Order: sequence, then C-alpha cells, then structure tokens
Amino acid sequence: MGCWYEAVGVCDVKPEEAEMLAQRVIDRFIKEEIIMPELDLEAALGEKGGYRPGPSIPSLYKLSFENEARFWEGGVNGMEVCIERWFNVYGFPLFDGFTCSGCEAKFAKDDQRIIEPFYQALESFFVKKEDDPPLFCPQCKQDYSIRDWRTRPAFGFTNLAFKFWNWTSMDCTDTWEIDLLKTIREITGHDIIYTFGKV
Ligand SMILES: [Zn+2]
Repeated sequence: MGCWYEAVGVCDVKPEEAEMLAQRVIDRFIKEEIIMPELDLEAALGEKGGYRPGPSIPSLYKLSFENEARFWEGGVNGMEVCIERWFNVYGFPLFDGFTCSGCEAKFAKDDQRIIEPFYQALESFFVKKEDDPPLFCPQCKQDYSIRDWRTRPAFGFTNLAFKFWNWTSMDCTDTWEIDLLKTIREITGHDIIYTFGKV
C-alpha cells in the first residue's frame, strides 16, 4: 500500500523569499493548531520530516462516513515543507499526458516528440536554474513555458511547496470547515497549484 499526498505549490516565488513565506505559513498553522509545533522525521516520506496534524484538525474536518480513517491519528501524516525547486516527481507515474495550453492538443506521455524535450526542460529547470524553460508544441509550432503545459496531476515547477501526506482532499468543502488552499493563498499572497502524488 502506498502513501498519497496532497500538494500545494506556491507560484511565482523567488528562491530567496521561499523560506520566509514558508515560515509564515508554518507559524500561522501552528498558531491555529492545524499542525503540531515540532518537526517529526517519521511524519513524511522525505528526509526533512513533517509537521503532524495539530489539535484543531478533528474539529475542522467532518468525517464523510462512519469508518473513514482519521488521518490525524497516526502514520505518515505530516505537512512537509519543500523550500527548493519543486517538481511533483511522484505525480509523474500517475500523469495522463500533456495538453498544450495554446491549441489544446493532447500528447500521450510516451510521445517522443514531447517527452524527450520535456526531460531537457526538466534539466534546465533543475540544473541550469531556469524558471520557465520552454517546451515546443509539435501541433501549433509554438514554445510554451513548461509551467503552462497542462497535466493531471499538475507538476508544479515552483520554488516553494507544501506536501500533506495522507491528508484528505482539501478542495472538498463538504468535509473541511476551513479552506486550507485559500488560507495558504492569503498567507503567502501568491497563487497556488493544487496537485497530488503517490509513493
Ligand atoms: Zn499547441
């Protein structure tokens, strides 16, 4: 059985402001008891661990059926903070192909016309530190930023992200009393990408 995560990439963050914005979110979440105040290395499947759900979560989340697992009760359930170039690497095995944001053409994930240039763009993002490496659309013959290509799950390509390990969908207003996505948007003052992955 694998572990799921919901992830929030924060858009248009400069590398030098990532840590400050991350800390703002962490501070507010600790204050509102959404997360515990200390890092727990076993709360996330990453080297840096995560912040486990805080005491206010059971009152902010309504179970949708009787035997629903309470994600806040244990296991891998932390909020992991990624203050670095972030690509949703565990979304990659799940993704359903590329859609051009210009002409809406769809390309299979194994289409050589797009996957090879995609790997090159990925290298530009990580190795050459290019924020918006272009990816050429074979259909409409134009370059688009790698961030503008549509995939499900979304790949991120941000300088700041929060991963919520095994938390339930945050865009479900029937179960959440708090809009965590909107809260992160407000605290950081930046737009967000909401996505997911599985390890
Ligand atoms: Zn196109």
